[in-house]
Amino acid sequence: MAVLLDGKVLSEKRMEELKARVDTLRARGKTVGLAVILVGENPASQVYVRNKGKACEGLGIRGDTILLPEQTSQEELEALIEKLNQDECVDGILVQLPLPKHLDEAKALALISPDKDVDGFHVENAGRLFTGQPGVTACTPKGILAMLKAWNVPLAGKEAVVIGRSNIVGKPVAMLLLNENCTVTICHSRTADLAAHTRRADILVAAVGKPRFITAGMVKPGAAVVDVGINRVDGKVVGDVDFESVEKVAGYISPVPGGVGKMTICMLMENVIEAAERKAN
Ligand code: NAD
Repeated sequence: MAVLLDGKVLSEKRMEELKARVDTLRARGKTVGLAVILVGENPASQVYVRNKGKACEGLGIRGDTILLPEQTSQEELEALIEKLNQDECVDGILVQLPLPKHLDEAKALALISPDKDVDGFHVENAGRLFTGQPGVTACTPKGILAMLKAWNVPLAGKEAVVIGRSNIVGKPVAMLLLNENCTVTICHSRTADLAAHTRRADILVAAVGKPRFITAGMVKPGAAVVDVGINRVDGKVVGDVDFESVEKVAGYISPVPGGVGKMTICMLMENVIEAAERKAN
């Protein structure tokens, strides 16, 4: 049976450490603030935003959620981002994605000051990751690495296969694994013979968005399998990995829920606190 990469347990431990950092800042007269912009009424986004608010509350971070109506114009959204960039009380700005179709996501993200870009989606921060310079790293990839390291999963020289090439998960996690000296393969919807790649993987990261897509026959015995997927099936949240069959083959496996999702929120909090610490110093 695989070792459980328990994101709930790890994130709870990390949150305690983060709380101490917030308290240290407070003792120096500095508060920490995150502004979350949610446009429209996407139900999944509403849940994510609520969870981010709760995490802030637990740490003593000021979390402002700014709800904008679905028909908000690009100009209105950009004016708000500009205002938050100037606001001394705001250390981090997060625009909850996806935005309604009529809004230009890339243009909005590009406006966020890179120092306050706690999602790490700004091209400057993405570029910093790709060129090995310090910057803000996207929360989900950062959380995946934190998990693998917390369980001492060997990385250097190992075969890592990432399924998915999105800017928010697939590409940055591939880059982080490369920085850890893994030999990295990125697979995607046009990959021929996906299983031939996944069966080679010592570390397999599934960020596809297809329920129970990865089955036991696709996994190398002993591999570390990280399930990023969040899929809603019959009112239940399931990952991209068929947990029941894969846990019998894998060496390590992250559950859904209680895996990567928990780490993502934790890393978001860390990015906000790091932004506040940078400003304070
Ligand atoms: P996305 O839709 O942008 O990317 C999905 C990727 O999967 C694409 O690059 C595509 O090429 C690839 N893909 C699709 N079908 C495939 C196939 N048949 N074979 C191989 N590759 C295929 O999604 P995303 O934003 O990267 O998110 C992926 C999943 O992770 C979603 O379920 C999302 O909800 C979840 N997610 C979870 C967290 C978290 O905190 N746990 C954070 C972000 C995203």
